Amino acid sequence: MSLYKETAASLHQKLVEKQCSAREIAQSVFDCMDEVEDRVGAYLSQNRQGALAAADKVDRQIAAGRDIHPLAGIPIAVKDNICTQGMTTTCASQMLYNFVPPYDATVMGRLKGTGAVLTGKTNMDEFAMGSSCENSHFQLTRNPHDLRRVPGGSSGGSAAAVAAGEAILSLGSDTGGSIRQPAACCGVIGLKPTYGSVSRYGLVAFASSLDQIGPFGRSVADVAALYGVLCGADPMDAPSARRSYPDFAALLKGDVTGLRIGIPREYYGPGVDEQVRAAVHGALADLERAGASLVELSLPSTDYALSAYYIISSAEASSNLARFDGVKYGYRAPDCDGLIDLYEKTRSQGFGDEVKRRIMLGTFVLSSGYYDAYYNRAKRLQDTIRGEFEEAFKLCDVIATPTMPTPAFKIGENVDDPLKMYASDVCTVTVNIAGLPGMSIPCGTAHGLPAGMQLIGPKFSEQVLFDTALTLENIRGNLCPVAGARGEG
Ligand code: GLN
Repeated sequence: MSLYKETAASLHQKLVEKQCSAREIAQSVFDCMDEVEDRVGAYLSQNRQGALAAADKVDRQIAAGRDIHPLAGIPIAVKDNICTQGMTTTCASQMLYNFVPPYDATVMGRLKGTGAVLTGKTNMDEFAMGSSCENSHFQLTRNPHDLRRVPGGSSGGSAAAVAAGEAILSLGSDTGGSIRQPAACCGVIGLKPTYGSVSRYGLVAFASSLDQIGPFGRSVADVAALYGVLCGADPMDAPSARRSYPDFAALLKGDVTGLRIGIPREYYGPGVDEQVRAAVHGALADLERAGASLVELSLPSTDYALSAYYIISSAEASSNLARFDGVKYGYRAPDCDGLIDLYEKTRSQGFGDEVKRRIMLGTFVLSSGYYDAYYNRAKRLQDTIRGEFEEAFKLCDVIATPTMPTPAFKIGENVDDPLKMYASDVCTVTVNIAGLPGMSIPCGTAHGLPAGMQLIGPKFSEQVLFDTALTLENIRGNLCPVAGARGEG
């Protein structure tokens, strides 16, 4: 049975109707992993025994006639910067190569409460810094649609796992695009939730004011169901919003009648690949025919967003990563001569080049002579960008843009050019800067590869994003067929 190709919703149906067991679902996903993981490299560690035990528990509940949660028995992969009690959480860094957290992130507690089955921890760019997974200390992850290409990043392992059928759903984290950009590259759906809606407790911090955990899936309903489990107030996370959330999956309508979709011209400029632009326009035309109207508008500060993002995120990273000193966690350099030598050697050997680049940049922009010229200026730009979105949402209900200006690039193509690598986030960073929800959905192909459309809404408007995406899914059918992960590589 190719259970691994199905959605969580259809697997849940099969479970309650006793057409299959949770163990069979887990086994089907493992069989797929046996077939493709050598080529894809989505996982840093696997949890087969634990997954089977969790699946058996769900099967016992079903046999005992108990009701099960829609995610019970559903195989879910988790990015390796989300703390999992008793399981290594490396952030794809030498610095944390042996770190086994003594506690679960809040989202892990929530997932376990549903009876979901954890398949393993996925590859990523080191400390979530990157756009291709090539900054992982441990391994490459390849795009299941074309093994010569990157899966995007930094949550590339989580996106690739879902795209290849090595998980039904997964979790990533998004600081400047790290869920949406790999979702676009791998032809799956990814949501960066409203800042403050999903607890960051137990997420290894990159840039705390921007980081959010969010779901990947192969159907809109699945992503809505997983988001419904992840969101919620948490006293362990200071910016967590004190509010309640509806049952998103149950409320899905898939109706865009009267919906005003904003088209910000800055996101469709000459830097965007012709075929990506055409794919997004094709999806917009479908939504228009379904009753939405398109509103042209302008978000003039978009051009400065990348600079503001890299200043703010690096500043916060330089502070957050100060805790990795060889004393408390993970890696400790051997043969050190005193404390300062221990710090220096541990950090020189434990961090990769990109992480060091961010720490140096962040330290520089926060230093006394440059604080006003860089960090304060970037923070002022953040206010401007937020204000522009607020104005835009007076004219429209949701904004649509390409997720990424190009389809997935070739492995190695951008590794020696950090600025080119950073440019692949040009459409996504504004959303984190403004704290808004953003979702990437497959909208066709460009050069034979998946292209993604990004939907952006006002804070806490996830339901509108889901309904817009569902409309497209209803028109086009399955947006995310499982990729075969064949070909060179
Ligand atoms: N690619 C961006 C960066 O390198 C975003 C990363 C992220 O969202 N974690 O910072």
